Amino acid sequence: MSRALSGIGVGSGTACGPVARMAPPPTLPAARAVADAPAEARALREALAAVAAELSEHAAAADGTAADVLSAQAMMAADPALADMAAALISDNALDAPHAVDRALADFRSGLLAAGGYFAERAADLDDVRDRALCRLLGRPRPGLPDPGHPYVLVAEELAPADTARLDPAQVLALVTERGGPTGHTAILAKALGLPAVVGCTAAATLTDGQTVLVDAAEAAVEIDPDPAAVQRARDRERRRRARAQGAGPGRTSDGHPVALLVNLGGLAELESAAAADSEGVGLFRTECLFLDRTEAPALDEQQDSYRRVFTAFAGRRVIVRTLDAGADKPLPFVTSGPEENPALGVRGLRTAARAPELLETQLAAIAAAAAGSGAQVRVMAPMVSLPGEAAWFAERARAHGLPLAGAMVEVPAAALRAERFAAACDFLSIGTNDLAQYTFAADRALGALAELLDPWQPALLQLVAATARAGAALGKPVGVCGEAAADPELAVILAGLGMTSLSAAPACLPEVRAALAALPMAHCRELAALALDAPDAATARARVREHLG
Ligand code: PEP
Ligand code: MG
Repeated sequence: MSRALSGIGVGSGTACGPVARMAPPPTLPAARAVADAPAEARALREALAAVAAELSEHAAAADGTAADVLSAQAMMAADPALADMAAALISDNALDAPHAVDRALADFRSGLLAAGGYFAERAADLDDVRDRALCRLLGRPRPGLPDPGHPYVLVAEELAPADTARLDPAQVLALVTERGGPTGHTAILAKALGLPAVVGCTAAATLTDGQTVLVDAAEAAVEIDPDPAAVQRARDRERRRRARAQGAGPGRTSDGHPVALLVNLGGLAELESAAAADSEGVGLFRTECLFLDRTEAPALDEQQDSYRRVFTAFAGRRVIVRTLDAGADKPLPFVTSGPEENPALGVRGLRTAARAPELLETQLAAIAAAAAGSGAQVRVMAPMVSLPGEAAWFAERARAHGLPLAGAMVEVPAAALRAERFAAACDFLSIGTNDLAQYTFAADRALGALAELLDPWQPALLQLVAATARAGAALGKPVGVCGEAAADPELAVILAGLGMTSLSAAPACLPEVRAALAALPMAHCRELAALALDAPDAATARARVREHLG
């Protein structure tokens, strides 16, 4: 008899397969007395050697940056100085092997941090070596992403950006997480990879390795041991979904009203597939990817090289580069000033630029240098802008660097309420519905428990989108959406009806959005938008629109 767990669906796909759980990092057990020190030291050396071999094997199978990182980790694990130091802790300090390896790696870590620069950036890699060695010594499953040797449904408490960088889309069929909301990291990643996902699924804690599950994002459900008829129905639905999304070319309604379709780019690893997607360019390049996991900002040259790769890949198309959006869920030690009680309400986004102007200046200089002669139509935009004066200052700094087109993101209600002044202060507006929902409803976007408030169909959110669109239209300035709302094909129709001139989403979502727009004339989109705006809540808005769409 099958059983279904519910959560928050991301996307509309389905997939069926065996569960493989992401093992949590091991915890150190209580210290124990060592009876046979030489045997303890042997076990420790064997564990480190096995970790080195395992990492070398992974390095050989990877390419690019991932291969470099894995080789460096393998070398650290194989370093005889590390094994000798840990063995000495066993013989001289009577530590057991797990505590000896933990202490030795902690000392290595401090040494790297003290050396600073590149070495300090490698310190986090040692944590992985420690976790792997501990798991071997304690007989626990290897931490991090599973590798069962066949395609699987990845189940985790939550996915961190670092985990996801190593995720192999050819092996992962779907994602299920216990935590997370509709606009959190996992949801954004699932869309970028085109994977069905159910997040905020608390009961997923009960799922065990090898159980067969049917993940149905449209139904926001995870069915355990589904019966064959349910799997067949899901497969048929998936086939119809893919068949619907066969169109190509620029986004437009059935009567030819243009709505540019753009891609969101979250990192250089996604560049090749993003550039290959049928789009009019990049609507949101999240440049944080160049800064995360580092102890200092990348130098101008390095940034310029990265931007140049993106611009060249999108030559002939537009690329909107969002300047660094640090803080809140993306803390960066060299930008943010230390722990804050409410980081989402703290010094984040453009607010960091007032405190560390050299970061913004270097970034704008690198973007301008990379843009020159690249063939891409490069624009820049600032995150988390709260005052029209901030938008004007940003546009002025961009122009000083020779970047003529500068925009502001509308992510806080203050910006939507005064959208006309914002539109006057810069060249375009881009609505970040993820943060705009978070701040409009005072609901942490990472909290699955508040998914109802974060639902982009909430009429209050749509009202702010409508106000921003009106302001843009009054001043003849483009207004787009680059938050996750743009990835929902039914909502895309509403956003077009509200007056959006572009929609930017993960590449895998664009075909369905294109098809949804192409199915209706603009007048009908406007009618449906009015219907959604008039609804009392998100669920009713969605239901009313669905009923009209048949
Ligand atoms: C948003 O807030 O909607 C947005 C696009 O920015 P991010 O998700 O990167 O915060
Ligand atoms: Mg945002």
